[in-house]
Amino acid sequence: MKGPELKKNQLLRELPSVDKLLLALPDSVAEYGAQAVTQAARKVLQQARDSILQDTPLDSSSAALKLRIASQLIDEAQPSLKPVFNLTGTVLHTNLGRAIMPLSAVDAIVTVATQYSNLEFDLATGKRGDRETHVEQLICELTGAEAATVVNNNAAAVLLVLNTLAMNKEVPVSRGELVEIGGSFRIPEVMQRANCTLVEVGATNRTHLKDYREAINEHTALLMKVHTSNYRVEGFTKEVTETELSQLSSEFDIPFVMDLGSGSLVDFAKLGLPAEPTAAWTLERGADLITFSGDKLLGGPQSGLIAGRKDLIDKIKKNPLKRALRLDKMTLAGIAEVLKLYRDPDSLLQKLPTLRHLTRNQADIRDQALRILPALSQVLGDTYQVTVTDSTSQVGSGSLPTETLSSASLSISPVSGSDEALKSLAAQLRQLDRPIIGRIHRGALLLDLRCLDDEDALLSQLKLFAL
Ligand SMILES: *Cc1c(COP(=O)(O)O)cnc(C)c1O
Repeated sequence: MKGPELKKNQLLRELPSVDKLLLALPDSVAEYGAQAVTQAARKVLQQARDSILQDTPLDSSSAALKLRIASQLIDEAQPSLKPVFNLTGTVLHTNLGRAIMPLSAVDAIVTVATQYSNLEFDLATGKRGDRETHVEQLICELTGAEAATVVNNNAAAVLLVLNTLAMNKEVPVSRGELVEIGGSFRIPEVMQRANCTLVEVGATNRTHLKDYREAINEHTALLMKVHTSNYRVEGFTKEVTETELSQLSSEFDIPFVMDLGSGSLVDFAKLGLPAEPTAAWTLERGADLITFSGDKLLGGPQSGLIAGRKDLIDKIKKNPLKRALRLDKMTLAGIAEVLKLYRDPDSLLQKLPTLRHLTRNQADIRDQALRILPALSQVLGDTYQVTVTDSTSQVGSGSLPTETLSSASLSISPVSGSDEALKSLAAQLRQLDRPIIGRIHRGALLLDLRCLDDEDALLSQLKLFAL
């Protein structure tokens, strides 16, 4: 063996054993348990060995090893799923968790999660009850529907409706409404998985009532309309209205189903927001069933709501797939509390974070940006220029795709004008304990403050930031 090899071997031999490290870390063992500390020690020792073999030895004194084990344990104890500051300007950001919940809903979730409950127990009779009694009446009250049911998300709602009412049968849908939501949910593919045959009618830009009429035959199960929630067909266009489709479906004695996607329960126009069909409006226009998400405009937990005719809802509840798609007690508790907020429209905007964020006015957001500006400029120093600018926020999650909301942002641009500097700043902000997520737009990193509730938390996070 030559000198360098001998040296390496000696360094390897000098590394302490896992057991020895464990004995030297009694506090960590007490806090995290022997198994976790053993794993962390193995990992750190392996790094040390690799570093020696690659001729780039790390400090392998026992103090250094102990420190690295402790920091490994701290990292591993962090939850992988953690809060971020959503400063993207997109209120319902699917990648950032969509709707955030009101505290009353969170309290209700904690209560049922930590205690036994009457989830499926009828307290009047002492017999088995139905978990949906806790929400069905509320959904009916707020939508005007006869009956309702809930599942895991709106994709599940559409799948279940189609599988229940159209298995081995045909469903005509307008070519202009063959929606894809976020890559994995596409109407044609859902149809296939629900075991029904999609019959495309009309053209991408124009579909007429007679197109549907010509598609109907003895195999037709229902008529379906899909809210084009994440795009608009503009220009020379024609779509068939809910009322017309409802009349046509009655003529052939088949149901008319509308997938609303976001499905609001309040009139957005009255809130000064871009109009969106409400659940009640769609049922009034004659839809026999509607499906919509619980965590889009509704502002609740991830769920899918199905509302409409009782005979159809009864069939849906009996489908064995329903069991596979049913909601857990925590979501049921959350959605019930969110729905209750809709009973008092006057306090709704304050209590429901989604609507509060959507309706925040630009002046208010701009004032907030001006309050944060000095702290941000200070931590970013001379390399970046920070200003307050007008910006546009979006509703998000495919809701109201072409409409934007006037907002205000802190705009950060590198004095050097370099794209790399901008990207690296964005990356550094993502590495914070509570990551700050903005968006890069025209050579600047924009931090849109529409969704910032906790200004103090952002300020303390900024204090810890060092370039
Ligand atoms: C969002 C959306 C869906 C899917 O809803 P999830 O709750 O995300 O499962 C289905 N259809 C339409 C029209 C949508 O907008």
